[in-house]
Amino acid sequence: MTQLSDLPLRDNLVGKLPYGAPQEPVPVSLNVNENTHPIPDEVVDDVVAELTRAVRGVNRYPDREFGALRAALAGYLGHDLRAEQIWAANGSNEVLQQILQAFGGPGRSLLSFTPTYSMYPLLAAGTDTRWVPVERPADYVLEPEFVARTLSDHQPDVAIICGPNNPTGTSLDLAVVEAAADAFDGMLIVDEAYHEFDAAHPSALELLPGRPRLLVSRTMSKAFAFAGVRLGYLAADPAVVDALRLVRLPYHLSALTQAAAIAAVRHADRMLATVDDIRHQRDRLAAALTDLGYAVHPSGSNFILVGGFADPHATFTALREQGILIRELGIPGHLRMTAGTETETSSLIAAISALGPGGARSE
Ligand SMILES: *Cc1c(COP(=O)(O)O)cnc(C)c1O
Repeated sequence: MTQLSDLPLRDNLVGKLPYGAPQEPVPVSLNVNENTHPIPDEVVDDVVAELTRAVRGVNRYPDREFGALRAALAGYLGHDLRAEQIWAANGSNEVLQQILQAFGGPGRSLLSFTPTYSMYPLLAAGTDTRWVPVERPADYVLEPEFVARTLSDHQPDVAIICGPNNPTGTSLDLAVVEAAADAFDGMLIVDEAYHEFDAAHPSALELLPGRPRLLVSRTMSKAFAFAGVRLGYLAADPAVVDALRLVRLPYHLSALTQAAAIAAVRHADRMLATVDDIRHQRDRLAAALTDLGYAVHPSGSNFILVGGFADPHATFTALREQGILIRELGIPGHLRMTAGTETETSSLIAAISALGPGGARSE
């Protein structure tokens, strides 16, 4: 049988593992930060109506420039954004990949502040971009001076700052983004995948005017409860969009994807109606685990990073056996868990509480 190691794989992919968070049909799935609430029935009906219209036209290629969707997303984002400033792809991961195809690549570098989203180094490897991880301080909070000094010293071709940061939940101050943008000449991406959960922090969209190398990425996969559709997007200067057009595959957004996303954005208020409750469940989960003696990191997102587990893998396995899936990250003593519905969150709290101190099985 042929093995991967028998194939002439590109050097920078040898030994790499694919993105692989477990996908299992467990009753309580809290490991990939989805919105666990199903979308409202009225929205389902409108999405289906749009899809029906779109299916009638699928003998033709879809609108390559997805103009209607870009206008809809510009309207949703506000900040006086125009459709020419918006770009979208099949998940924000694809948007990030296109950015690296256009602005990274051989001889170029991508810098980010770790621990952060595990896909960044994989996207760097896939585009032959040198990955430059710089560790965050112990509390994971980025300060403007630290970020500015780091970017000015390294002068990366592309830098990405995730706010709120996955997997730590840490919010991002606009002062950090401003300092970052001033500190180097490369492209600066702010990954706002979880922005809708962070009521206290304004969006980096505010900083776009006058900063043609600032890119703000968003996704419909998290707060918007639309992960299965695969729609991520970006706001930036129209010249950045011109660059991404050079690397996108023709017709990369299917007619069905465009139709579904247009319908969902039309119902943005309803799609986001569960955000307040999810935030409340996150705070309830954080308070309960703090009471149990765990160290919960402050979070502006729909998940929390929790320290104080004697053996994170043992806790992960014990919960998995009970049909509860959370996330192991390889951060010593830590696990990440998504806030779900009230029932899911209660199950998680009860299960961890029953494990006893440090998440060890008390038998
Ligand atoms: C989930 C997530 C994304 C979104 O990925 P999609 O491809 O849009 O589903 C992007 N960035 C971060 C940090 C994430 O956690």
